[in-house]
Amino acid sequence: MKELACRKCRMLTTEKACPNDGSTELSNEWSGLIVIINAEKSQVAKTLGITRPGRYALKVS
Ligand SMILES: [Zn+2]
Repeated sequence: MKELACRKCRMLTTEKACPNDGSTELSNEWSGLIVIINAEKSQVAKTLGITRPGRYALKVS
């Protein structure tokens, strides 16, 4: 099953709701994949506004 990306935080999930913020606004139209392991030390995570570790889509439409 293809993962869905949360429209709010871009976290990828196979669930019906985002495990990060509980949003059900999920999209299968996403591209790019980034894995954040340590959000506090990751400059990319800061740039994207990500505070929790996980797998995220770079772009969600
Ligand atoms: Zn989310």
